Amino acid sequence: MDVYVEKQKCTGCAHCFDVCPVAVFAMKNRSDSEVNADTAPEGDKWTGKHDTVVYDKWSKVQDGHKHFAENFEGGSGGISVVIAGSSCILCQACLVECEGECIVIKDDSENIYKSIYK
Ligand code: SF4
Ligand code: SF4
Repeated sequence: MDVYVEKQKCTGCAHCFDVCPVAVFAMKNRSDSEVNADTAPEGDKWTGKHDTVVYDKWSKVQDGHKHFAENFEGGSGGISVVIAGSSCILCQACLVECEGECIVIKDDSENIYKSIYK
C-alpha cells in the first residue's frame, strides 16, 4: 500500500491525522525539512504555492481550523505528510474527511483511491 498527499491542496485541517486508526499521517510545519518526505510525485510536492481552487474554497471558512497556516498548532495548521503508508488498512476514513481532496492511496494491485470530501 502506498499513500501520499497532494501537498498544494492540503488545507491543514488535520482530519486525516485525527481519523486514521494506524497513524499513517503526521502534521508538519510547512517549512519543515520533511514536508516532502512521502511519495508524492514531483508535481504534487509542497513548493510554497497553494492550489488556487482549494484555497478559494477553504481560506474563508470559519470552522475552527487554521486553514493554510504555516505551522501545526492547536490541532490544525501546517501540512499533512505520510509517514507510514505501508500501514494503511484501506478503511477509507481519511478519504471522506479530507477537505482538500488530496489524499491518494495505491494498493498492491495498483488500484488508486482518491479522497472525495463527504
Ligand atoms: S484509508 Fe488508510 S490512511 Fe486512510 S484512514 Fe484508513 S488506514 Fe489511515
Ligand atoms: S485531511 Fe486532507 S486537507 Fe486535511 S490535513 Fe489531511 S491531507 Fe490535508
